[in-house]
Amino acid sequence: MTLDIRQIPVLNDNYIYLIREPESGYVGVVDPAVVTPVLDEAEKLGWSITHILNTHHHGDHTGGNLEIKEKTGCTIVGPGHDRDRIPGIDVEVNDGETFTFGATKASVFFVPGHTRGHIAFWFADSDALFCGDTLFSVGCGRVFEGTMEQMWSSLSRLRALPSETRVYCAHEYTQSNIQFAVTVDPNNLALRTRETDVKLKRERGEPTVPSRLGEELAANPFLRADQKDLQDALGMAGADPVAVFTEVRQRKDAF
Ligand code: ZN
Ligand code: FE
Repeated sequence: MTLDIRQIPVLNDNYIYLIREPESGYVGVVDPAVVTPVLDEAEKLGWSITHILNTHHHGDHTGGNLEIKEKTGCTIVGPGHDRDRIPGIDVEVNDGETFTFGATKASVFFVPGHTRGHIAFWFADSDALFCGDTLFSVGCGRVFEGTMEQMWSSLSRLRALPSETRVYCAHEYTQSNIQFAVTVDPNNLALRTRETDVKLKRERGEPTVPSRLGEELAANPFLRADQKDLQDALGMAGADPVAVFTEVRQRKDAF
């Protein structure tokens, strides 16, 4: 079954997602930074929260866990690798496992780098990837706990999913990501087109998330570290993709 997905903007730039599987009526909250907007939206929709899905331990992804669990009795699903840092975790999921959610299911990918326990949920039936702070629209998360090599290999795994996959990342960072991306990949036409498109969307107050993975492959420099045109633009022709990724990530950190 296909998920019904609602996007809740909270804090400065976070997105929380409510996902409902219609056959079972299961309702999941992906990365609840906060409580009230989630409960309000669920009530407005007439949806009863049954699950929380966490991608990683950071407070702006788990801050609402305990209170939402207390108020709804929901089950908290999160990375087994990080069980000690996920408040209230009930169900641990790990790389390669299938998480069954009513009449649909998600593949779980272990994608360390931003944190050492980060996971992503891919609901293939719904073309939906919930990737937390690993892959962003035209960007990627900062490498806080893992290595550059891990982050590149995590992104490489996500990149291999079908190009129609919608990337439900956890932050609205697209516009600032593009401002940086054009400095490393100035001749990328797909990126320039995206720049215009995103500018118009933000002027209208619309979200730029989710994007399609195919659009990311064309425009996101962090997915393009092994592409000749980006390597050429950086003066790193033929370099190891990990070195190219590291260069781009470090430039972004200093941008
Ligand atoms: Zn984070
Ligand atoms: Fe975050």
